[in-house]
Amino acid sequence: MGFSACECCMLPFKLIYSDEYFLPIGSHVFPAEKYKRVRDRLVATNVAEPSDIIAPRPATDEDILLVHTPRYVEKLKTGTLSAREELEMEIPYSPELVQAFWLAAGGSMLAADYALNDGIAISIGGGFHHAFPDHGEGFCMINDIAVAIRRMQRDEKIRTAMTLDCDVHQGNGTAVVFAPTSIPDLARTRKASSDVFTISLHQENNYPAFKPPSSLDMNLPDGMGDAEYLACLGSAISLGLSKFKPELICYVAGADPYFDDQLGGLSLTIEGLKQRDTLVFQLAKAESIPVMVTFAGGYAHKLEDTVTIHANTIVAAKEVFPGN
Ligand SMILES: [Zn+2]
Repeated sequence: MGFSACECCMLPFKLIYSDEYFLPIGSHVFPAEKYKRVRDRLVATNVAEPSDIIAPRPATDEDILLVHTPRYVEKLKTGTLSAREELEMEIPYSPELVQAFWLAAGGSMLAADYALNDGIAISIGGGFHHAFPDHGEGFCMINDIAVAIRRMQRDEKIRTAMTLDCDVHQGNGTAVVFAPTSIPDLARTRKASSDVFTISLHQENNYPAFKPPSSLDMNLPDGMGDAEYLACLGSAISLGLSKFKPELICYVAGADPYFDDQLGGLSLTIEGLKQRDTLVFQLAKAESIPVMVTFAGGYAHKLEDTVTIHANTIVAAKEVFPGN
């Protein structure tokens, strides 16, 4: 009788990760090393085994063009962003950075694909929700979430999806990508404007100053704590699912609603953030809707806290989806 040595602790779902997720942006408030730190923490604490972790391939230009304009993609590939465009992105342009974002998009595509098979999959990266079709903003060059959804739709693996964005900052890029108003360049790639339902729970008094409407925005007051937040999240998901039945949920599990975040003004605890993740997974499971997860932001004063919050997302997933 054969059995593998560690079936007991193998995850019943996949984690998507590559060392190349690292963003080469130098000294920056965005802790680019967090992805590797989370990966290493998960393995060191026996939450995951190396065999649970799948390395993605970069998205192709064709994939990126399902969301982004040819003009913007050309500028990125030829290094011809204007100074103003680079400033607005708030991360320093380099060809290596372009590769990292193409890989993040490939990782989110792979996570979406695995989620459709296994019920859940998590990319230890991605969640770049401030990227618009024709420009980047707020540390985001390419909207990997939107690319993953459009690729799954193009492959006819899904028709509909819901984004559930719990980063402390509003998902402005995602809202615009999937807004009914059309950008001429993109009209040809859009089958319908009502095939993706976008939900954003965010601190109202925070970046971005202008918040283009999502399908459902929850504008939260400064300092909101665990209990009220979890109540709002439950209401948002219930309301969203009462209006729209998606074939895939793309959960953007930002770590920055944390009380000790440098760029956030909500007051969730580490335990409250884990309860947030658990609630999302339980509701998705109850509705039998596959869920793919990306990380987005996280700027705690102590990097270890950001790592713990992100690692807990996988712990929560393992508790809700224990496999056999
Ligand atoms: Zn954020």
